[in-house]
Amino acid sequence: MLTSICRYFIIVKTPISPRFYSGINQEVVRVRFAPSPTGFLHLGGLRTALYNYLFAKSRGGKFVLRIEDTDQSRLVQGAVEQLQRDLSWAGIEINEGPGTEGNFGPYIQSQRTHIYKEHVKTLLENKSAYYCFCTEKRLELLRREAVRVREVPKYDNRCRSLHPAQVADKLSQGVPHCIRFKLNPGLESFNDLIYGTITYDIAANEGDPVIMKSDGFPTYHFANVVDDHLMEISHVLRGVEWQISTTKHILMYRAFNWKPPQFAHLPLLMNSDGSKLSKRQGDIKISHYRDSGIFPLAVINFIINSGGGFEKDSERNVKPKCLTMDELAEQFNISRINSHSGKLMSERLLEFSRLELKRKLQHPQEENELIEVVREMVKKHLPEHDSLQLSSEHIKNILHWSVSRINKLSDLLSDDLKFIWVSPRTCKISDTELPHIEIFIENLQEKQFLDKDNLNGFFKEFCGERQLKFGSFMKTLRAILSGLKEGPSVAEMMTILGKENTVERLQCSIKNNK
Ligand code: GLU
Repeated sequence: MLTSICRYFIIVKTPISPRFYSGINQEVVRVRFAPSPTGFLHLGGLRTALYNYLFAKSRGGKFVLRIEDTDQSRLVQGAVEQLQRDLSWAGIEINEGPGTEGNFGPYIQSQRTHIYKEHVKTLLENKSAYYCFCTEKRLELLRREAVRVREVPKYDNRCRSLHPAQVADKLSQGVPHCIRFKLNPGLESFNDLIYGTITYDIAANEGDPVIMKSDGFPTYHFANVVDDHLMEISHVLRGVEWQISTTKHILMYRAFNWKPPQFAHLPLLMNSDGSKLSKRQGDIKISHYRDSGIFPLAVINFIINSGGGFEKDSERNVKPKCLTMDELAEQFNISRINSHSGKLMSERLLEFSRLELKRKLQHPQEENELIEVVREMVKKHLPEHDSLQLSSEHIKNILHWSVSRINKLSDLLSDDLKFIWVSPRTCKISDTELPHIEIFIENLQEKQFLDKDNLNGFFKEFCGERQLKFGSFMKTLRAILSGLKEGPSVAEMMTILGKENTVERLQCSIKNNK
């Protein structure tokens, strides 16, 4: 048993009993991902969404998307749509949420203000909440004073003791106010499905929290509790940064006389060097992976790999594999999630990406989808070329060639490989070289397939027999095949293009030079 104490905050990591788990099985599982639409989905957010999704999927439950946009000052235009696109790209299917209405909507908190107003009344009536008329100026003075005496700033709960007549008077005068929740002092505990028993005295560390702001919007803590209850959320899986707030939430559930959901807090995600992921890091945005042509399942397996929840490949004695969502859901076990921080090992991302390419090419339908993705990617990357070679057969050949050579699809867009896609424009072939090229084609056609090493020998032999200058003949071949002056060797180019394509490009240039 591991115990750590930080002022009134006790984490007791106890093995969780089987009885506790059997409790989970019997319930109807409803989980939610509840992001604030303040930007783009990043790895941390995707991890939370993913574990919720897998938990629901593994137990035949429902996954709800709820948009927590009560902090109107932090909203970003288009962020909700972007979030939905990112989740769908990642393969996370939403059972209920904005645009996928279920029985518990609306799923956007700013459209639920009437519900919060109704519920705050309950807490005012049962004296669990009170009006607070303290001005920003007074709160600022309290903060400054706390800093001066080196204490953590906290509200002194002054308005708790206002007489009802004083309250009525101020309200009738229209004095600006918010509503606060009364925190009961004392230790409060809950069972964290990942961390074990968590005990905390919230009132010793915080003043009474605002639950309804003066702008009429609820704060996160209040709206979150009300919605989790009304949406019948059975399990809350969220980042460990929220663990410290959970006892506050439990006090609110009690004030309403509601049963709280079960909680599981996911440990921090770190970079491989142990540093914190920062939103300024370009590579934590999910769109970064999509734009780089990394497969969604590679990103998913990469995240899983750092956070646990599954048997390790080494434990199962199997080769590393990029698991599908169904396989992941089948293997997912919340008791296997680590409580220590997870490190994102970037080299594994590319490994998963390669494995995923291989897997997709083994399934005709996924292979066809991939061909389509590559076609669109190339068109977007080379918009100035009207003679792109993008037949399905060609893309398929290239993908099979690339399977052990590239890490991600965007590697196929490198300048070196441009010749794959760009059918070269007709280049001038001198009259002296023309007949040699014709014979060269005949010789090539006799070969069963083109292999880089054999080709190099063949080129030398061919030039030797016909007393052609090797360098200048290669230059001509390169120009015919790629229209480029640089790039991989001619033998390599032919191997990549394959026999049929190579011969076709050569024949075409002969035709155009006659
Ligand atoms: N809106 C919170 C966030 O942005 C949700 C936290 C929770 O899941 O309770 O992360």
